[in-house]
Order: sequence, then structure tokens, then C-alpha cells
Amino acid sequence: MMTPVIMYAYAFMVGAVFGSFLNVCIYRIPKGQSLIRPASQCPYCHTKIKFYHNIPLLSYLFLKGKCAYCGHKIASRYFWVELCTALLTVLTYSKFGLSWQMAFNLILLYALIVTAFVDYAEQIIPNKVLLTVLIAGLLLNVSFRVFPWKEAFLGLLVSGVVFLVVALVGTRVFKKESMGMGDVKLAAVLGFFLGWQMALLSLYIGFVLALLFFISLKFIDKQPKNNYIPMAPFFSIGVVILIFWGQSLNTLYWKLVL
Ligand SMILES: [Zn+2]
Repeated sequence: MMTPVIMYAYAFMVGAVFGSFLNVCIYRIPKGQSLIRPASQCPYCHTKIKFYHNIPLLSYLFLKGKCAYCGHKIASRYFWVELCTALLTVLTYSKFGLSWQMAFNLILLYALIVTAFVDYAEQIIPNKVLLTVLIAGLLLNVSFRVFPWKEAFLGLLVSGVVFLVVALVGTRVFKKESMGMGDVKLAAVLGFFLGWQMALLSLYIGFVLALLFFISLKFIDKQPKNNYIPMAPFFSIGVVILIFWGQSLNTLYWKLVL
């Protein structure tokens, strides 16, 4: 039998490799490019990247964040996406073990990484990502019954409708689109994977985090780009907090209340 430490290291490495693929998604999906072809190339000098320059995490460190050919600086996002993906993979494995439930949660988290980074960089929530993860979740649930159907569809509906109302009211009150339809669709997808209580709670945590972030921006006298606050990163952090520390937060809450 393999010792757990080796399994965690393995989960980390597999996660970093997936992170490398998520980087490709983040870069190419908003541009409408294929995820498979062409092979990875430097965005500046367009030299094809050799496999030994494409090792997750390590290559970035060894090349000191620069292209091996033209020396152009490579966005640190590549490193952070790989690290986030690797760490979340380890966390998911430690919580669910090697199971279909792990796979179910992991595809949601991977989709959230792509959505959060694309929303941050391009200010859009790509439909393609939401649709893909929803179909993957459906197939996984059809095959392995990870999550009760009633909860999944109730979650999709309730979370989506609540957010639609919030978006419509927000647009009325602030006289401009405060939350896009992308956020509404994202909320519905979260409902499908988490059930409506968990989904709405994670969205609520996301709102609180966004508010704190916005206030701290005011303090250092900075304006968000185009006055747009990407919500997907905050919602995603909310989901991560709830999936992994929801239980402890719940216990803490009741300790404080009683
Ligand atoms: Zn280059």
C-alpha cells in the first residue's frame, strides 16, 4: 500500500498538470481558440514551447518567469493558477478520498478557477465553461449518483432565480447593470453542484468578501478597472471556504451564538 504522504504528493503533481491545462483554457477560451491545437507557444515570439520548458510550476521558477527563447516576461498568473489547482486538488483528495464525489467537486473547482481568472482578466463569464461543467456534472451524476437529483435541480432553480431577482433589483436600484447574466448562470451551476443552501451561502460569503475588497480599494484610493468588479473570483473563494471549512464555520457559529 502507498503511504498517504505519497498520495498527497501525487495529488499535488496531478493537480499542477491540470492547472497547466486550465492556463490554456484561461488564455484561449475568451479568444475563441481551440484548446488542443496548436501546441503551446510563447505569446510574444510564438516559438513552440518544448516539453521540458512546460513542466508545471518548476519551469516557471527555473526560467525565472521568462520565455526561454525571447526572454519576454511571462505573466505570473501561469504560476498561480498551477499552484491554486495543485493545492485545491490536494484539499479535495484529503476531504473526499479517491471517489466519484471527489471528481464531482474537483470539476466544479477547476471550472471555477477558469471562470474566476477569465472574469478577472476579461470581465466576462464564459458560457462555454459553465455549460461544459454542467454537462460533466450531469453525466457524472447519471453514472454514479453522487448527489441526489432533487437537490441538484432544486439548487439549480432556486439559486438561479434568486440571483436573477438580485440582478434585476440591482440594475433598478443602481441604474446600471451591477451583476451580469453570467453571474446568474454561475449561481445556477453552483446550485446544481452544491444544493441551494450551500450555493446561496457561498454567494453570500462572496458578496461580503467583495464588499471588504471594495472598501479596502477606497482606502488606498484605487478604482477598479472600468468600474467593473469581477464577482466570479469572490464567489469562487466563497465556494472553497464552504466546501472545505463549512463544517468548522458552522460549529464556530453555533458556539458563538449559544
Ligand atoms: Zn518568447
